[in-house]
Amino acid sequence: MPADSPFVPAAHEPVLVLLEQDAHGLVRPRVADPDVPHLRVTDQGVTRGDGLFETALAVADEAGTLRMRKLRAHLGRLASSATALRLPAPDAAAWEAAVDAGLRAVEAASRPAPGARLSVRLTATRGPEATPGTAPHPTAWVLLTPVPAPDEAERRAGVRVLLLDRGIDSTAPEHAPWLLTGAKTLSYAVNMAALRHARAHGADDVIFTSSDGFLLEGPTSTVLIARHDPDGRRRLLTPLRQKGILAGTSQAVVFAAAHAAGWRLGYGPLIPADLEDVDGIWLASSVRGVLPVRAVDGRETPVDPTLTARLQAWLDADGDPGHHVSGD
Ligand code: PLP
Repeated sequence: MPADSPFVPAAHEPVLVLLEQDAHGLVRPRVADPDVPHLRVTDQGVTRGDGLFETALAVADEAGTLRMRKLRAHLGRLASSATALRLPAPDAAAWEAAVDAGLRAVEAASRPAPGARLSVRLTATRGPEATPGTAPHPTAWVLLTPVPAPDEAERRAGVRVLLLDRGIDSTAPEHAPWLLTGAKTLSYAVNMAALRHARAHGADDVIFTSSDGFLLEGPTSTVLIARHDPDGRRRLLTPLRQKGILAGTSQAVVFAAAHAAGWRLGYGPLIPADLEDVDGIWLASSVRGVLPVRAVDGRETPVDPTLTARLQAWLDADGDPGHHVSGD
């Protein structure tokens, strides 16, 4: 299809927006057909997993207008990943224009009902392997995919996790920054393999530990722990980011709300023993939300429905605390 004839997406199907450079070098969004190929087989996102991504949630309001949640926080983290990878990804304004084009295209095609949800996935790769004499050129796109309503049974009952060694020392962020521990890179095969391992061994999800014994994160989520301090005040904890984990945008929203509600906050360092004698453990992420953990390595752990509902409501109420608001 020629570039000047706009593609019209089908209702309730994924919507693809390509970020393309025009003749003046400006990056512009173009809604394109998601069912035809757009990537070259030499694209380094495919050949080397060399690129970055963000997955966010968009929800339709009462009028059916879609809004991407935590937009600034996601774009801030994307910029941090781009810096870590030294990837010349499009800037925030270009991503915002592409997300907006995608959301408006979904609205036009599908007339979303209030509460309808989409996953909004922003991806940038290092682009096709450059031939000598040509400048490398990143490939970037946004894919918006309808997602079903949250699984209420899972949100109530919780998930069983295994503690799995990620095989990386917690000092890696300082002595081996090329491991890109705090960046959201496309190299998620290891994370997916850990999830398959957990499922093959009777669990639903994973909490990674560092090889020197610190709690890290889930393959696609941040760990939250609630407990009472000796003086009876409630404290919400999350593993120390500097140990080599991603800065969770959901964790930041929940922490900001907990702080406003008078809870104390704590940012690790945490070890597996910190998962004992707690009021609750949760995995937090943008699309699945806040899920209670009901067992760790086969040992039951308390699931408090009231606390869980509170944390879920804090995240679902949205808020964009911006990037790096917590734990820095
Ligand atoms: N940690 C990892 C490794 C992730 O992949 C994700 C999200 O996919 C998260 C944490 C949670 O991040 P967020 O709450 O920003 O979705």
